Amino acid sequence: MEKVVIIGTGCAGLTAALYSARANLQPLVLTGLMPGGLLTTTSIVENFPGFPEGIDGYELMTRMQKQAERFGARVQYGTVEAVELSKRPFALTVDGERVETQTLIIASGASHRHLGLESEDKLEKKGVTYCATCDGALPMFRNQALVVVGGGDSACEEATYLTRFASTVYLVHRRDSLRASKVMAARTLMHQKIKPVWDSIVIEVLDVNQDKVTGVRIKNVKNDSESVLDCAGVFVAIGHIPNTQLFKGIIDMDEAGYIIPRKGSATNIPGVFVAGDCSDQVYRQAVTAAGMGCAAAIDAERFLAALNQ
Ligand code: NAP
Repeated sequence: MEKVVIIGTGCAGLTAALYSARANLQPLVLTGLMPGGLLTTTSIVENFPGFPEGIDGYELMTRMQKQAERFGARVQYGTVEAVELSKRPFALTVDGERVETQTLIIASGASHRHLGLESEDKLEKKGVTYCATCDGALPMFRNQALVVVGGGDSACEEATYLTRFASTVYLVHRRDSLRASKVMAARTLMHQKIKPVWDSIVIEVLDVNQDKVTGVRIKNVKNDSESVLDCAGVFVAIGHIPNTQLFKGIIDMDEAGYIIPRKGSATNIPGVFVAGDCSDQVYRQAVTAAGMGCAAAIDAERFLAALNQ
């Protein structure tokens, strides 16, 4: 029987792992489908304290995992398929295997939001992608016009990254100003290769008949006019959806699926704690996720100590 199981190996999960490992709880840390979490798809992280020159997202997560493992955390590749949280010990089904645990820390993060277009689904991996650092260097995108959709930090980061390969990057945003942080927005808009397309939404990715991306049909939301932007790739960066479907109806969450903690990191089920993007609709930063992971580990440790008294 495990003392602590942590679901997720993003900043929240690995920080929870570090703290609970240092509390001698030998946590079992389950990676899910994206080991290292969303940060592994980021290029340079410039706002994680302690790295004045910035640090590659993948490297940061690798270091976090090593640090947690040094103190006894056990990172296991696996996906949680089912949970039984009605009584303790809690039971999880992980790739068909039953795992029992006294406490659970949910740090399952969030996934990329899709535009919700049929053509987007049909052309996924055929020019439609959700990660510039993963796919931007592919030959099909080199010296081509590319489209990034979104107006947040992710969209700006993707657009800036893609200027290394693209001839032009169209930044299609549904409003006339960026939501991104001021530094990121200014840097993006100053870039010669980036051309903002304001007040516009993508209504179709072209061309399903050719089975590859040749452009996007966009609509100006102010005057309803439609036009086509020729491009070889579409990078969708319009935010995230929390990975909490497994806990629906069991753990309290809001309408968007973000887990609502009751006190600190404690959820409505005693012994189940939450940390990171799966419960944070507001800050969603690597460093806040790490802080939440730390809090969840401390809460779990105190819960176990109280049980044993
Ligand atoms: P975000 O801040 O939620 O921005 C999402 C963007 O997509 C918004 O501009 C939004 O438009 C647009 N959008 C949402 N749904 C849409 C739809 N259906 N169609 C068209 N556009 C849509 O998400 P994010 O950029 O992924 O950032 C998430 C968090 O991570 C933020 O807190 C951000 O600061 C952080 N982050 C930080 C860094 C960094 O500092 N290096 C990098 C990436 C992300 P509206 O503006 O009109 O709502």
